[in-house]
Amino acid sequence: MGTPINGKYDVVVIGAGFSGAVIAERFASQCNKKVLVLEQRDHVGGNCFDYKNQFGVVVHKYGPHLFHTNKKEVWDYLSLFTKWHRYEHEVLASIDGQLVPLPFNLNTLYLLYPEEKAKTIERLLVQHYGYGGKVAILDLKETKEPLLKELATLVYEKFFVNYTTKQWGCSPKQISPAVTARVPVVISHDNRYFHDSYQAIPVNGYTKVFERILSHPNISVKLGFDGIGLFEFDESTSTIKISDNEFEGRLIFTGMLDQLFGYRFGELPYRSLKFDFETLAQKQFQPNTTVNYPNEHQFTRITEFKHILPVESDHTTIVREYPQDYDRLDATKNVPYYPVFNEGNQTKHQAYAALANKFKKLTYIGRLADYKYFNMDDAIANALTTFRKISNVF
Ligand SMILES: Cc1cc2nc3c(=O)[nH]c(=O)nc-3n(C[C@H](O)[C@H](O)[C@H](O)COP(=O)(O)OP(=O)(O)OC[C@H]3O[C@@H](n4cnc5c(N)ncnc54)[C@H](O)[C@@H]3O)c2cc1C
Repeated sequence: MGTPINGKYDVVVIGAGFSGAVIAERFASQCNKKVLVLEQRDHVGGNCFDYKNQFGVVVHKYGPHLFHTNKKEVWDYLSLFTKWHRYEHEVLASIDGQLVPLPFNLNTLYLLYPEEKAKTIERLLVQHYGYGGKVAILDLKETKEPLLKELATLVYEKFFVNYTTKQWGCSPKQISPAVTARVPVVISHDNRYFHDSYQAIPVNGYTKVFERILSHPNISVKLGFDGIGLFEFDESTSTIKISDNEFEGRLIFTGMLDQLFGYRFGELPYRSLKFDFETLAQKQFQPNTTVNYPNEHQFTRITEFKHILPVESDHTTIVREYPQDYDRLDATKNVPYYPVFNEGNQTKHQAYAALANKFKKLTYIGRLADYKYFNMDDAIANALTTFRKISNVF
């Protein structure tokens, strides 16, 4: 890459998403380390990347990203780099021709059932789970109460099963309960999708936050650069090498471990997405940010970006999301979005993790390297914690 790394940089970070950017910033600002960030894409921000289009609409290139957290540390950290636009996400689902709140809550109940029946079901839900409580859809299915069982079947069939099948390309039974259990019935009239104490969008979008995080004078960023080819992993000595010399610094890897180690234990499967963006010559397309389509169409949902960061424009931009299998050799399917959870894949990931752990100077973090679904706040919290752990042993 032209620039010598040994002697010039103390830390090399592969990946400029939240995991990589935050840990790079901490080493630069808290330890005065020289940090090189290598990013294969032509932009920073990872999957949180956004940009303003010609109509002033801030578009999320890799799908809608709504920031929410209960972690004060993460909120305080990000607030060093941005001011916030207050935003609480609400989602609607298109069910039998009407738009109803999602997750299924008491407002949804009254829209889909006759009033008297809805009142009885509400009473039963409150009695069993308490007002303000939540019950996972798969648990509700197990209830002995006939009316709640009926409700469970309705929610399962109209909201859950077809959406999940589209999303994962297989039946819900084939998916780990860790994923399916996330789908709740909410026993309240609160239409908000998230209930975290902090919910907001960076006032100038996410990319500007990344640019500020990475603007520390100790950080150099190289875009359009796949970092993997630069390093060799010598298992006999557990050392990392660059051009046959031992790498003296610390390598922080936020990409895929199977790729890092040449897929030697096989590939870790992912679901990918195709995003179909459309800009329309109208002020508004739909009543709120996201409408899910569990039972119609091939796509799972439509997001209208103007609702996230409002802008005065006669145009609006929407995106339809089509789930698809990941294929690293096909340019239309080669972005890994969601790890496919099952025991076999976890075991495979553990084999890669065990191999990575042999290299003392290698740290792997992030949604790809950990082969886990992380929200943004998880990725940031994890980077802050990992920094505290490894900065002591430097
Ligand atoms: C469709 C979708 C919607 C989401 N919506 C939300 C939401 O609303 N709220 C929320 O909190 N979270 C959301 N998330 C999760 C959020 O995207 C992640 O938490 C976040 O992206 C994790 O950051 P990361 O740095 O670990 O990974 P990433 O953002 O994926 O960053 C990893 C970076 O590493 C780079 N890289 C990988 N390998 C290499 C290599 N060999 N060389 C150089 N660079 C490399 C990649 O190009 C990428 O830029 C969503 C995720 C998806 C898929």
